[in-house]
Amino acid sequence: MDYVFIVRYGEIFIKGKNRRFFENRLAGNIRKILNFKGFDYTLKQTRGRFYVEGKSLDILDVLKNVPGIVSVSAGKKCKREIESIGKTALELFFLLEKKPSSFKVETKRADKTYPLTSIEISKKVADYVLKNGIDTAVDVHDPEVVIGVEIQKGLVCVFCITERGIGGLPVGVSGKVVTMLSGGIDSPVASFLMQKRGCEIFPVYFHGFPFTSDMVKQKIIKLTEKLTKFQPEIKLSIVNFTPVLKELKKKSPDKLIIILMRRFMVRVAEKLAEKYGCKAIVTGDNLGQVASQTLDNLQCITDASKNLILRPLLGYDKQEIISIARGIDTFDISTEPYEDCCSLFVPKFPEIYGKIEEVREAEKPFEIEKLVNESIELTEVIEVGGKNAQ
Ligand code: ATP
Ligand code: MG
Repeated sequence: MDYVFIVRYGEIFIKGKNRRFFENRLAGNIRKILNFKGFDYTLKQTRGRFYVEGKSLDILDVLKNVPGIVSVSAGKKCKREIESIGKTALELFFLLEKKPSSFKVETKRADKTYPLTSIEISKKVADYVLKNGIDTAVDVHDPEVVIGVEIQKGLVCVFCITERGIGGLPVGVSGKVVTMLSGGIDSPVASFLMQKRGCEIFPVYFHGFPFTSDMVKQKIIKLTEKLTKFQPEIKLSIVNFTPVLKELKKKSPDKLIIILMRRFMVRVAEKLAEKYGCKAIVTGDNLGQVASQTLDNLQCITDASKNLILRPLLGYDKQEIISIARGIDTFDISTEPYEDCCSLFVPKFPEIYGKIEEVREAEKPFEIEKLVNESIELTEVIEVGGKNAQ
């Protein structure tokens, strides 16, 4: 194996007696994605961190996107002698994309039988690299690059590349959730934030063909593919929502149509949550962004289900959401021009202060149970990711 990757996972380390559970889940998640991607690797769990050895430096990019990982360093193993450590440090230093303006050597000596102290090792390695090709200033206080040396029983390694991970918790430790994925900017971000808090997501899209173009479905699949970077296998449900939309068009008062539509969506999502063992439904709602997203209207939507409905973006500004969307690479897909069914049905004067009693009354002419069951029967499940995980 050519490279060794040191995987650090801050937050989950402090979880007391749950630590084992968190660590095993994280290790399992790492194995899953590396297996899917066909990497040759080994993974060793030690107290507080993992060591992954592998042949390809590309493993670094995969690891830094695994929720739960705070930082990853990429380096190489070497022999215990200073010369071998120094040579390896030089080799790694010259792999850096850009020559740094300063560096320092930092040593962690877990193997206390090693004949030199950490400080002595750092000094000797710095001397070695300065004599043998690095003409960069040493700065022990604020270096641009740290050459890390780790000395353990049976493993000595050097690293110079350290990248931040996305942090959060390993997917799965917080349970499962259904996320309502609409193809806009917000809902993929909401889904990602839940993955980052340790939830396995089961996205659902309500497809209104031919009210909406079949291209939206492709868009939703592409968005889900982006989310497989954080959870390599995702079950995406595409609900055929056309029968419900037809009924809504016929029977709903104009101003309430979006609220009634959402109530149907939530009811179907609730059935899916039951099917997959999910503990909550997640939406990309954001307070005040559009007319439907007032506290009154959100309350009217919540009223349709007993399930916990989470709206992780409620407190975010649009700019903050866009910046996360760019970070997870969903923004460009989300802004492709295909409209989802809600935007097509938005009436001229939508209700802004929906009242639960009025909404329930407006729903009376609908055969709710039948329509919901029909939607579930007409649901297509697509397995996204797996060997094609991003
Ligand atoms: P987004 O950018 O996610 O579309 P938005 O700000 O445009 O959000 P709305 O279109 O009003 O807001 O929808 C609010 C939320 O309702 C969405 O974030 C999504 O979670 C859910 N939603 C709306 N339409 C659909 C749909 N066709 N399929 C699945 N979920 C939907
Ligand atoms: Mg939308």
